[in-house]
Amino acid sequence: MRIYFDGATQTVTGSQHLLNINGHNLLLDCGFFQGKRQESYERNRNFPFDPTKIEAVILSHAHIDHSGNLPNLVKQGFDASIYTTPATAHLANMMLIDSGHIQESDVEFVNKRKKKNGEPLVDPLYTQVEAALVAQHFHPVNYDQPFEPIPGVIARIVDAGHILGSGAIVLDIEENGHKVRVWFSGDIGRRKLPLIRDPILPDWADYLIMECTYGDKPHTDPELAYNELRQVVGQTLNRSGKVIIPAFAVGRTQEIVYVLHQMFENHLLPSVPVYVDSPLAVNASDIFKMHPECFDEETKTFIQQDKHHTALGFDRLIYTRSVEESKALNDRKDPMIIISASGMAENGRILHHLRNNISNPKNTILIVSWQAPNTLGRRLADREKKVRIFGEEYNVKAEVSTIGGLSAHAGQDFLVEYALRVKGKARQIFLVHGEPMAAEALSAKMLEAGMDEPTYPQWRDSMEI
Ligand SMILES: [Zn+2]
Repeated sequence: MRIYFDGATQTVTGSQHLLNINGHNLLLDCGFFQGKRQESYERNRNFPFDPTKIEAVILSHAHIDHSGNLPNLVKQGFDASIYTTPATAHLANMMLIDSGHIQESDVEFVNKRKKKNGEPLVDPLYTQVEAALVAQHFHPVNYDQPFEPIPGVIARIVDAGHILGSGAIVLDIEENGHKVRVWFSGDIGRRKLPLIRDPILPDWADYLIMECTYGDKPHTDPELAYNELRQVVGQTLNRSGKVIIPAFAVGRTQEIVYVLHQMFENHLLPSVPVYVDSPLAVNASDIFKMHPECFDEETKTFIQQDKHHTALGFDRLIYTRSVEESKALNDRKDPMIIISASGMAENGRILHHLRNNISNPKNTILIVSWQAPNTLGRRLADREKKVRIFGEEYNVKAEVSTIGGLSAHAGQDFLVEYALRVKGKARQIFLVHGEPMAAEALSAKMLEAGMDEPTYPQWRDSMEI
């Protein structure tokens, strides 16, 4: 068999690996490559293989850098099953349609400029309608349920503990009388994340393809991070301020809602209203509620004992869908918590809340995830004193607080532990989904632990195994 590393090589975006086994083609993930506009456009549009020749896809999880190019695959003639967990199928469908919307608005913006300059106009990579066509290909499989995506391969998805429905992909392959196991980690989660179960580690594998996003960084314990969050929120509410939290609509929002729910039940915070103000986050929360099979035992027990019988709902929690409901929050002077997207404050309703609350020293802007360079979120996290929102300059007088350690990705220690599980068993380990610094640091740790040096493939490398 031959493996082609067609994405997330020496970088973290565009996860995509093609396996040719017994003459059949199986694709693991079909992620969106995110980089400079023109490069992204070309990379996502032109597959390094013929989409009509792909006989099955297995999708590790719903994040766009793993699922986001599926609409193009379908658009270019792929006509087979996409195997994934029921929760991932649900979430991916929603996120792909949202991504189609983003592609359309993006191109609209670009075309305005092109029109002015008399340049030829461009098409969106895919539209919302095209994104919606992916759903008919989803073939949901439960965790640990074996299936045969192509002849000679028995596959299973095991819990990766990263986001709702996320999985590692285990392939037991028989080719020309030889049996091998390939284990693809997908994105590796962490222990003790709210709501979802802990990751399953490999027991053995002949070949391990693993992510290394944080190969160079240890993370602090999520429980410590949430303690810090409680303190900051408590202090702000006690001085009658508002807490504004930019959060990713899928995952981080639900984690924070559940953690706040627990804190309120335990009387650890003053009783104030909590608003989740993002249509995508509201829809995602509905999908979370539909998949309690993905929750960990702690959450299941909480749901059983809680008077609301849900992790993601309580008396003072209000999900706002309409623009009117969202705007009504602008006039309110009482202390409250507002969770809104986008997570890096680049667009979406969070911008209105920041504009309205950034100049009041009683308020707190709470940053709960990594912020990419050149985003408003990053400028706030860097404690810039003046920021621009909707083209206008604002003095940052609100407190800005950054909580690290809430990442949904494994840190260095856990990645080493993951790799060590196949020490002396795996013939080769491939590091993907990580920048060179991360891969180098993780390789060094693995060598230190007495393992062989892992392979760090380049884009479009392929290898006979
Ligand atoms: Zn992910």
